[in-house]
Amino acid sequence: MLVQILISGASVTGPVLADGLTRRGFSVTVVERAPALRKTGDHAVDLYRPAMTISEKMGVLPRIESRSGPPARIG
Ligand SMILES: Cc1cc2nc3c(=O)[nH]c(=O)nc-3n(C[C@H](O)[C@H](O)[C@H](O)COP(=O)(O)OP(=O)(O)OC[C@H]3O[C@@H](n4cnc5c(N)ncnc54)[C@H](O)[C@@H]3O)c2cc1C
Repeated sequence: MLVQILISGASVTGPVLADGLTRRGFSVTVVERAPALRKTGDHAVDLYRPAMTISEKMGVLPRIESRSGPPARIG
């Protein structure tokens, strides 16, 4: 039986969850109430270790690194 899942919110958590569930064979629909991408003015975003690990598992880390500066090690 194909399980269908509806995820509300297409910021960070929604698409990451959708990716993981789709890889596991679920049928996923993501809905978002915002009418368009929010433009934030190119401010910096920190990707902490869990986000880096998840990005690597999703296969998008090389693309992120190609668009960012060198990784900084904290601690
Ligand atoms: C100024 C600022 C700077 C930050 N900088 C960083 C950083 O550098 N690094 C970092 O890791 N974190 C940062 N954070 C934290 C990060 O933004 C949050 O942890 C992250 O956005 C949480 O993602 P989320 O998808 O769970 O929720 P949200 O980003 O809050 O997304 C929820 C989404 O659901 C949508 N939604 C809500 N209700 C509905 C509905 N009824 N139907 C459909 N869609 C709906 C909203 O429009 C939104 O798009 C920052 C936060 C702020 C405020």
